[in-house]
Amino acid sequence: MYDVIIIGAGPAGLSAAWHAKQKMLLTLILAKDVFLGHTVYGMDFSEIIPEVEKCDVIALEKNIVSFSVEVKAGQQYFGRSVIIATGCTETEGNTVFDRLTLKDAYNKIMVDANMQSNIPGLYAAGDVSVTLAKGIASAILEGGKAVLTLDKILKKTDNKA
Ligand SMILES: Cc1cc2nc3c(=O)[nH]c(=O)nc-3n(C[C@H](O)[C@H](O)[C@H](O)COP(=O)(O)OP(=O)(O)OC[C@H]3O[C@@H](n4cnc5c(N)ncnc54)[C@H](O)[C@@H]3O)c2cc1C
Repeated sequence: MYDVIIIGAGPAGLSAAWHAKQKMLLTLILAKDVFLGHTVYGMDFSEIIPEVEKCDVIALEKNIVSFSVEVKAGQQYFGRSVIIATGCTETEGNTVFDRLTLKDAYNKIMVDANMQSNIPGLYAAGDVSVTLAKGIASAILEGGKAVLTLDKILKKTDNKA
């Protein structure tokens, strides 16, 4: 089981992936495609690109201790936490995450200041989530913030076990 499954490889997803690597979290990145040239504001993410599984995520479920993520080709992946970083697709009528997440009037996933959604272990970052300032810079910041939060929570859970 992965520590974190990141859905999306735009600035938010790539930043989350980079932070997850720094924290040595077992990470899977699922995305239809990777952000322009794999380079965001001069930061080269090509080192983490081989880990991106190119696919279309079609379902996300919360199980007792984990999340299951299903892709169009049929595979299912399991993670202790999930970061949704799918950009504007959710606001454009995509309903993949509607069963689990609370959304606002603009169809954006509602998160707190630490990028946590209404479901423990489920995070959203970048254009898919609710925050005032948007664009590449805030997407990068939010992807990282989600990982720093979930890393603390996973470590706390592991110490208790
Ligand atoms: C034409 C244009 C010009 C722009 N210029 C600027 C600019 O100059 N400066 C600036 O700051 N911002 C600019 N922006 C905005 C900026 O691109 C976005 O704010 C930023 O890309 C958001 O990053 P993100 O990671 O949230 O989402 P995105 O970059 O949209 O990435 C979303 C990722 O999710 C994946 N995905 C989506 N749905 C699924 C699914 N179901 N399954 C698997 N993967 C999925 C996509 O393949 C992609 O990898 C521009 C936007 C556009 C359209």
